[in-house]
Amino acid sequence: MGSTDRKVNFNAGPGLLPREVIEEVRENLLSLGSSGVGVMEHSHRGKEFVAVLEAAEAGCRDLLGLNDEWAVLFLSGGASTQFYMAPMNFLNGGTANYLDTGDWSAKAIKEAQRFGTVHIAASSKAEKYVRIPSGPLDEAPGAVYTHFTSNNTIYGTQWRQEPEAKSPLICDASSDIMSRPVALDKYAMIYAGAQKNLGPAGVTLVVVRKDFAASGRKDIPTMLRYTTHIEKESCFNTPPCLPIYVMALVFKWLAKKGGLEGIEKHNEAKAKVLYDCLDGSAFWTTPVEKASRSLMNVVWRLPSEELEKKLVADASAAGFHGIKGHRNVGGLRASIYNAMELADVERFVAFLKSWEKANG
Ligand SMILES: *Cc1c(COP(=O)(O)O)cnc(C)c1O
Repeated sequence: MGSTDRKVNFNAGPGLLPREVIEEVRENLLSLGSSGVGVMEHSHRGKEFVAVLEAAEAGCRDLLGLNDEWAVLFLSGGASTQFYMAPMNFLNGGTANYLDTGDWSAKAIKEAQRFGTVHIAASSKAEKYVRIPSGPLDEAPGAVYTHFTSNNTIYGTQWRQEPEAKSPLICDASSDIMSRPVALDKYAMIYAGAQKNLGPAGVTLVVVRKDFAASGRKDIPTMLRYTTHIEKESCFNTPPCLPIYVMALVFKWLAKKGGLEGIEKHNEAKAKVLYDCLDGSAFWTTPVEKASRSLMNVVWRLPSEELEKKLVADASAAGFHGIKGHRNVGGLRASIYNAMELADVERFVAFLKSWEKANG
């Protein structure tokens, strides 16, 4: 398939990347700039890759507005490694609040239970996760931190703003990182697997307050201590060089889009177009409570599973890829991450409207 006939990619993860980023990567695969050595082949300690790493860190700091009190780390093992690495460092037999808003939160909870007491300070499990819990949290006294999942990729829900907690927040932001501004002062740490909004799979972005990292345990394996990676500037061992390079380019692209304020407007506009279409006809049903709707993962249902299957197939034939819902919940899901263009969502909505006429 030629590069001009790429499908509109609604995959939940790995997700789409900006076309101009992919083209710039392609340019540099054989030779990074004029170095004569491809980006994948440079030593991670050579000046060429060090410049890449510095650009990635600077891009991240600019977008999130991180000062010197924060460390920016490029780790491996995915967000799933952070599910245990964070409690391994910080819980140490103590108590942490966990907000249970879906399967990813539940996985984080399961891992944290190995290292201390997990107190569920809010949950929407009884309502099958169709909304974000409202009202004040039921916090454990003396909790070390409060962990939450900012966007629930599978259920299509998203916190509109940070939960109000007495302890510092640790956030799994894998599926909405850098999709909007964040209230940094509420956080101790934010982590995200790159493959939804930031780059290819293989690198995990971790931003952590240095004082918080320093409060972590010292008697755990070297690779699993945040302080190791802060001291060695993400080069304690060989970091995921190519994914970091791609992420640096995504940060540059985001800056051109007007940073996090700019991308937030773009994301709101796209989500509105799609939700307006789904709200416009009783043929489509949206399980998620309106106030909890995700701007990243839009989920909906049709009157029957047969129709849902047909829509997935017909959409794919029409050039719209990856709208099958997660296997745990079924239905349809369109992931419209940062790199999704408004024009592509508008084209998809036009397709949905004509499909409803033919099949509704
Ligand atoms: C995809 C996803 C994960 C898992 O990330 P890995 O990098 O595959 O470990 C965790 N949390 C959320 C919210 C996700 O969307």
